[in-house]
Amino acid sequence: MISFNLHAPVFFLSKQDMTRWYRSIYMTISLSILTSFGCGGALQNFNIVSDAQEIEMGRQFSQEIEKELKLYEDPDVVQYIQDLGQRLAKVSKRANITYHIKVVDTDVVNAFALPGGYLYVNRGLISTAETESELAGVMGHEIGHVVGRHGAKALSRQYGLQIITGLVMGGNPGTTRQIAAQFAGIGGALGMFHYSREAEREADALAVEELYEVGIDPDGVAIFFEKLMALHEREPGGLDALFSTHPPSGERVKNARADIALLPHKDNLQKDSDRFRRIKKRLPPLKKSE
Ligand SMILES: [Zn+2]
Repeated sequence: MISFNLHAPVFFLSKQDMTRWYRSIYMTISLSILTSFGCGGALQNFNIVSDAQEIEMGRQFSQEIEKELKLYEDPDVVQYIQDLGQRLAKVSKRANITYHIKVVDTDVVNAFALPGGYLYVNRGLISTAETESELAGVMGHEIGHVVGRHGAKALSRQYGLQIITGLVMGGNPGTTRQIAAQFAGIGGALGMFHYSREAEREADALAVEELYEVGIDPDGVAIFFEKLMALHEREPGGLDALFSTHPPSGERVKNARADIALLPHKDNLQKDSDRFRRIKKRLPPLKKSE
């Protein structure tokens, strides 16, 4: 079973960290209130950062978020996730950047991407996916957010140009960590990060394309969302990070299936692999939810 844990970040923070955490929350809130007056809707679709700036921003986010997260180090599992991710990234529409892919040691079902190609896959997600195509669907979706530069665009809307430029130039680590935590779905009092419906739609469509290109059954994208929705219905009190940052919906499943129907028939699309099943056996069982 899956443990739904709203307060996961608390376990990773010392008392001193918590004080810093809350201070940075207040700072970030004040900053976003200030910037929201000045920027209005002018930045809606304006891609304000270059590739190099976006990658530098992602690098700083990854450095800060890794102080909050415990990484899962089993080399066989990590290598498998990196191989699968790189296969998908290589056929993506943004194959010219380097993708950094890591596994997070938590039962929480989630995966997230920071701007610039920094991908994190939770151990709980690997355990919950029943086939390789389901896991690849979520990873393809996260790569889709990188391809669409959705993170950088959303940040420019939320925080404004000055803050983003400041982050690229090496801003306050507290603010950097706070924003990175929102991507990770452990946003604390500031809440989780939300992509727009259009960004979710685009990331799903890109995931379908990537899976199909590498020969993995793209129906994995739709199937995993259906499973998560069913699970959510069975445990309505529960809420996990994946639901908050990328809410699965019937509409998303329908759209993914419509995209799949347009693809030319391809023989031997893989639903699963022996390597995936071997990797799953290496993972500890998920704790029952309380
Ligand atoms: Zn998403």
